[in-house]
Amino acid sequence: MSRAVRAEIGLSALRRNLLRVRALAPGCPVAAVIKADGYGHGLIRVARALSGADAFAVACIEEALCLRDAGFSHPIILLEGFFDSSELKVIARHELTAVIHHEWQLCLLERSASMTPIKAWLKVDSGMHRLGFPPEKSVAAWQRLSACANVANPVVPMTHLASADDPADDRTARQLARFDTTTATFGTGCSIANSAAIMGWPQTRRGWLRPGIMLYGVSPFICGRGEACQLQPVMTLHSALIAINYFKRGDSIGYGGSWQCPEEMPVGVVAVGYGDGYPRHAQPGTPVLLNGKPVPLVGRVSMDMITVDLRSQPQAAIGDPVVLWGRGLPVETIAEHAGTIAYELLCGVARSRVRFIETE
Ligand SMILES: *Cc1c(COP(=O)(O)O)cnc(C)c1O
Repeated sequence: MSRAVRAEIGLSALRRNLLRVRALAPGCPVAAVIKADGYGHGLIRVARALSGADAFAVACIEEALCLRDAGFSHPIILLEGFFDSSELKVIARHELTAVIHHEWQLCLLERSASMTPIKAWLKVDSGMHRLGFPPEKSVAAWQRLSACANVANPVVPMTHLASADDPADDRTARQLARFDTTTATFGTGCSIANSAAIMGWPQTRRGWLRPGIMLYGVSPFICGRGEACQLQPVMTLHSALIAINYFKRGDSIGYGGSWQCPEEMPVGVVAVGYGDGYPRHAQPGTPVLLNGKPVPLVGRVSMDMITVDLRSQPQAAIGDPVVLWGRGLPVETIAEHAGTIAYELLCGVARSRVRFIETE
C-alpha cells in the first residue's frame, strides 16, 4: 500500500456553495475567485465544477491562460491586471479583463500602440491601502481609462474591503461610503463584495460579486465555521495510522521532546506532516479525526508525520482512517490551533506529494 495521504475534492459541494452565493444575492453576476490554483483545490477541476459562474477571477495571466487552454470562454478578471507591457497583447487576444490599480498601468495603456481594446476594471482604494487609486484620483483615472482608445467601455469600478470578516468593524461602512461617493457619477456597474461581504454586509450585494473562500465551504468570518454559513467543505484531507507505540509516564514524544506522556499510554503515528501542507505550528491538542472521532495531536509536527494521543481509542489499529480537516473537522478549527487562517492551509497542500481525488 502506498502512503495514504490524499486530498478529496467534493465537486458537488463546490456547486452547492455557488448556489449559496446566488441565493444570498439573487441577480448579481458572480466572478468565482479561483486564484492560487483554485485556493489549492486544483484550478481546472474547480473551474469545471463552477462553470455555472458568470466569470472567473485569477491573480495572473498564467492562471488565465490555463483556463483558456482548457476551453473556458468565460470572462476572466485579472485581479492585479498586467505586470508589464508584454502582457497587453495576450490580454487583448484572450479577451481577459484587467484590473487597473495604478498610475503606471494607466500610462502604459495610454502610451501603447493601438490594439484591440481591452476590458478594464478600475480599482479604487477605499481604505484597504493595498492596491488602487486613492478616491481623490479615481474620478480622473476613470475618465482617462474610459477615454483611452486601447480600453473598451464601460470601465467598471471595484474596491476591496479590508475588514468585512469582522461584522463589528465599522471600517467596512466607511469604505463603502467612500467608494459610493467616489463612483456616484460613473453610471456603470461595480464590484465590491468578497465572501465576507456577501455573507455579512447585505449593502455590498450589488454588481459583480467576487466570492472566493466561501465557494470552498469555509466561513469568511473570524472564528466562523462554514457549516454555520450553510456552506459545505470541499476539501477533505485524509491519511492513515501507520504505527501505534506504547510509552511510559514521562516519556517525551517527537522533536525537541516538548511533549511528555502524563501516564502510560498509546501514541499513534499518522502519515502526514508539514511536507504535505499540514501546518507545523499546529499545537498539541489540535483535533485529528481517527475513525471519525477526534484525538488530540501530541508533540511537534514533523515533515512526514504527526503523533496523536490514542488513550480515547485503545482499540485503534494500524491502517485506520484519519481525517486532518474537511468533512467532520472544519479546516477553520485546524487553522485556529495553528495560529493561521484556513486560506493558508488550503493553498498550502503540497500538490507534488498529496494525491488529489475528485468525488461527487
Ligand atoms: C482573493 C480576492 C477575493 C476573494 O476573497 P475571499 O475572501 O476568498 O472571498 C475577492 N477580491 C479580491 C480583489 C481578491 O484578491
